[in-house]
Amino acid sequence: MLQLDFHPTGRHFLQIPGPSPVPDRILRAISLPTIDHRGPEFGALGRDVLDKIKYVFQTRSPVIIYPASGTGAWEAALTNTLSPGDDVLMFETGHFAALWKAMADRLGLNAEILSREGTDEHLPHAPGWRHGVQADAIERRLRQDTARKIKAVCVAHNETSTGATSDIAAVRRAIDAAGHPALLLVDSISGLGSIDYRHDEWGVDVTISGSQKGLMLPPGMSFNALSPRAIEASKTAGFPRSFWAWGEILAMNADGYWPYTPNTNLLYGLSESLDMLRAEGLPNVFARHDRWAAAVRSAVVAWGLPILCADEQCYSSVLTGVIVPAGVDADALRRLIHERFDLSLGTGLGKVKGRVFRMGHLGDSNDLTLVAMVAGVEMGLRQTGVPLAGSGVEAIMAYLGSHAAPAYRQAAATPGAA
Ligand code: PLP
Repeated sequence: MLQLDFHPTGRHFLQIPGPSPVPDRILRAISLPTIDHRGPEFGALGRDVLDKIKYVFQTRSPVIIYPASGTGAWEAALTNTLSPGDDVLMFETGHFAALWKAMADRLGLNAEILSREGTDEHLPHAPGWRHGVQADAIERRLRQDTARKIKAVCVAHNETSTGATSDIAAVRRAIDAAGHPALLLVDSISGLGSIDYRHDEWGVDVTISGSQKGLMLPPGMSFNALSPRAIEASKTAGFPRSFWAWGEILAMNADGYWPYTPNTNLLYGLSESLDMLRAEGLPNVFARHDRWAAAVRSAVVAWGLPILCADEQCYSSVLTGVIVPAGVDADALRRLIHERFDLSLGTGLGKVKGRVFRMGHLGDSNDLTLVAMVAGVEMGLRQTGVPLAGSGVEAIMAYLGSHAAPAYRQAAATPGAA
């Protein structure tokens, strides 16, 4: 008998940093009957989502929607704007920045990745994996490029493998200060819809994102938000591309259609998700995640364990990584917590495998799901024999109790309130 035939009672605690828990309202929207993707009803749906999605990217430019995971949208951003052999500059914030670099290498780009220098007491082999992008290092490197060979700067906004959020406006300023014409390509796969992100204001040329994080949808859709310069670059970019090619998609999107079969039912979900984010308002969405993140960090501090992100300016409001004491296997801990409490935590990826676990605080969560997550982790840590300085559960309850949710949420939750 398949293991999948058994399902424990109650809701699974999906506390990985994406895919995030999907609200029932979105699941219901996705369950609508599939329609003809060339019919009139679909055109209306296509136009609706293509228009509404600009709000979450804070852009007036077109956003391309692919029936693909985020990795596809990475490839789309590179192949639509660049040519084989082009120089690109990246920054190693963690596993996803490293994977994007590996993709650039495979495609035949000449990718250079800057890494933070120095050592780290907890992770001596990965000092840069506890920090965000160093915009000043990017500026220095661009100033050296007097021949202007570097065609694009590629950075991750929210490095999901570590829980460090980078200052994208500072990267833009660095490029401008160096007077360099490189395009700015930003991966906000796990930042969008949870952490402040401004495609137009920050002068980003392509923003890459995905459905399964802040947009609270299942995996399966990804995005390229464009700039006028990126669209211009795509007209002369030399990479062969077909499925990813923006030109044909933009032409058909004008009427709400795609050159191939889009994932109709996920688009129903996207329409619902965009309505929910708009109704709450992005500033409230960001404040909600900031508060949850601070609450979860208060629990980690109470345990006396190091937060993976070492720079408080860069703490991610989407996830918190925790370094386990030397000699403890973080994956064995995660397995125990999953088996005993039906709670999924993010694994340590790449250079930090086995040394960290990650707690997601995004998607269809609330104060009590986060308290439950912290309780599950705390029980797991105790049962594994990890010495704790204090109770994270008490800390998170105290934090949430003394930092009230924003007033609009209280009003919405009070029966009869205006
Ligand atoms: N970039 C970041 C920052 C991510 O978090 C992820 C996935 O978690 C990816 C890229 C890859 O996206 P996908 O797994 O949807 O292909």
